[in-house]
Amino acid sequence: MKNLFKTIGFLFVVWIFSPSPISANKPYVILISFDGFRWDYLDRGISPNLEFMRKDGVSSLSLRPAFPSKTFPNHQSIITGMYIENHGIISNSFRDKFNNELYRMGDTNAVRNSRWYLGEAFWETAERNGITTASYFWPGSEMILDYRRPTYFEAYEHNRDYAMRVEGVTEWLKLPKEKRPHFITLYFDDVDTQGHRFGTESPEVNNAIKRVDGMLGLLFTMLDEIKMRDSVNIIVVSDHGMTDISNERTINIENLVGGMNCRFYDSGPFMTVDAPKEKFEEVYKILKQNENRYKVYKKNEMPEYYHYKNHPFIGEIILIADMGWSLITNRRSEYDSKGNHGYDNNHTDMHGIFLAMGPNFKNGYRTGTLWNIDIYPLLCRIFELTPRSNIDGKAERIEFILK
Ligand code: AMP
Ligand code: ZN
Ligand code: ZN
Repeated sequence: MKNLFKTIGFLFVVWIFSPSPISANKPYVILISFDGFRWDYLDRGISPNLEFMRKDGVSSLSLRPAFPSKTFPNHQSIITGMYIENHGIISNSFRDKFNNELYRMGDTNAVRNSRWYLGEAFWETAERNGITTASYFWPGSEMILDYRRPTYFEAYEHNRDYAMRVEGVTEWLKLPKEKRPHFITLYFDDVDTQGHRFGTESPEVNNAIKRVDGMLGLLFTMLDEIKMRDSVNIIVVSDHGMTDISNERTINIENLVGGMNCRFYDSGPFMTVDAPKEKFEEVYKILKQNENRYKVYKKNEMPEYYHYKNHPFIGEIILIADMGWSLITNRRSEYDSKGNHGYDNNHTDMHGIFLAMGPNFKNGYRTGTLWNIDIYPLLCRIFELTPRSNIDGKAERIEFILK
């Protein structure tokens, strides 16, 4: 009898410590961002590897970013499942006006300071649940607190060779099983950079589309070589689209409210303004009277659909330019470029792409517009993890693309 209990006890211990079927077959996901890849660039017929994904996997008509349709805020929305007012990266650069500290995407110390990031990135959710993760660039992936960043990460280097990035991802997948990451991010700026410089219809943008598509092809080849092509899910997204702008379509906001000691944050597609308390109503009135080619809102009157008011660092007056128009001050020169983004996120010019392929995704499945805040809960579904309860994204708006 004693022996029987011993045997049962032994079997119980073995069962407890043996890997469950789920963890034994943990999925792999590579999340790739092609910055500024507008949804309709896919139809130019110059991206065969993305086309392959459309046929073999899932594709959406477009991917709706959050407002404002800028790079850092939207990469955070994708990776946390939160609207921008909630994850706190309210622009590429912004000021904590209470402590007079600056967050700037070009400032390595600032982007590594975890105090700015109010959301939990998917890599943190995954690592908390015993899943190793890696990032070959992603805004927010370099935080100094090690439990808030992926196990493996690369410090952002704008000119890092593109093929080297793909090789880096492949090297991580070649690690022994117990060290190998199951979730990896990868990022390319090219399409956005050329879109700003030369505009959406330029040969330069088309060449950038071809280059990043070529990198996807290289990834396919390398996954074939290490015999992981069939086991890896690949998701390709972009953070926003792009629209053409011009020198002739600018509005100098500073000239309208000159001499009133206003502070201006951001410029181009959107701008926020802080005015001294006693001048606030006057400043707002002037901006409202001149409301032509832009919309102006007091922060607390900002339409709910933007989800861009409930954060203390957002300016007290918010201006959103009409498509293609640029809001400028005397020292800002966005109007020198040919393309920009940051506008109303419901306008399709601001929409990006979403394509996904691999063992967890349906084949040849086309769906309508998806929302980028739903990608975090989608990742949680793939890895069978419980998403954070405070997110804005919803699995039920996206999970039908899974097998
Ligand atoms: P945007 O002004 O919104 O078009 O921002 C695009 C730019 O963001 C890129 O050209 C990069 O220079 C920059 N960027 C993207 N990812 C990162 C990162 N992880 N760290 C620092 N800068 C980045
Ligand atoms: Zn971007
Ligand atoms: Zn850009």
